[in-house]
Amino acid sequence: MRVVFDEEQRRTMLARIEDVLASGALTQGKQVARFEAGVAPILGKRALAVSGGTAALEIALSIVGVRGGTVLVPGNTFFATAATAERLGATVDFVDLELDGLGMDPDSLRERLQAHRDVRAVIVVHLAGVISPAITGVLDECRQRGIAVIEDAAHAFGAEIGGVTAGSFGRLAAFSLYPTKVLTSVEGGILTARDDTDFNLADTLRDHGRTEQANRHAWLGANWRMSELHAAVGSVLVERFAASQEQRTEQAKFYDERIIGLSRLTRYRPPAGVRSNHYKYVCLLKPEVDRNALRRRLADKYGVGLAGEVYDIPLHEQPYFRGRQSPGRYLRQAEWFCRHHICLPIYPGLTRFDQERVVEALWGELA
Ligand SMILES: *Cc1c(COP(=O)(O)O)cnc(C)c1O
Repeated sequence: MRVVFDEEQRRTMLARIEDVLASGALTQGKQVARFEAGVAPILGKRALAVSGGTAALEIALSIVGVRGGTVLVPGNTFFATAATAERLGATVDFVDLELDGLGMDPDSLRERLQAHRDVRAVIVVHLAGVISPAITGVLDECRQRGIAVIEDAAHAFGAEIGGVTAGSFGRLAAFSLYPTKVLTSVEGGILTARDDTDFNLADTLRDHGRTEQANRHAWLGANWRMSELHAAVGSVLVERFAASQEQRTEQAKFYDERIIGLSRLTRYRPPAGVRSNHYKYVCLLKPEVDRNALRRRLADKYGVGLAGEVYDIPLHEQPYFRGRQSPGRYLRQAEWFCRHHICLPIYPGLTRFDQERVVEALWGELA
């Protein structure tokens, strides 16, 4: 993908950056406040701008407190979800996927909760920008045991289920503003919380645990701040978020219509009531299709580069986790999904012409 800013967007960003430089207030100022104010109505709650999605996860896990315990994470997620928990002194274990809504499988979760007596938190990931209906089962399992749920909503800014937005389900939620995500501030993240107490603590933690009194620190925070320059870029894009979502929706509709009838590829269709933010356009391949070979042919013959998978290998197969246990035995669906899906290019700035070429290439290879 390529991040494309139109001229008007660039001009507005530069004007805001000019404001920052002219004012000399470079961090935690007007632009961050403007960015947070732009985000709040989209998420339906107060938002805290931070330096990254990982920073937001670190703050969330610090508040819950995970050191010395187990944190359950999905088998299908970005490395940072698990790495953050481990860096904060927890050990992760992995939960299987349910293929309907691409969420955490409540049965697999129950099984893992029974296997560990020391689970401090469960991190759910709204894979590809889809909030799974199975989240209800996940929340029930955790509520019964008094275990905190954290949403790694890095993929899911603006996604909804039954009119409820990502970030509304966990005790805390972390969003990423990395350039490939549906909303970016070049680098950055957003944290939301259900309770004001958590929110206010997060606000303190992002700035070294500083208290109201100058130079007094009551908490082990860190520098998890978003700079004014990043906020200047992010605030423009958040104002254009609805338009960029419309573009993604149009692009998804185009693929929906044009890939019908392919015999070796079907689109993944989110369950009824789910409004994806179209972060990824996921397609399932017939098991006989060799994905690596397909990727190569699409690139060499047609000049078509697919988007990155979510993800091409399950987390427990990452080199860092190798040799731990053998979670493969209970992550059957996670593994299946990893091996048999691709993601078509989708991003604002992708032209209809480009999409035509993608579709033509798919018909050339997977009819
Ligand atoms: C992108 C991403 C992150 C990390 O966000 P950064 O902004 O790069 O720190 C965490 N979790 C998931 C699922 C992601 O996709």
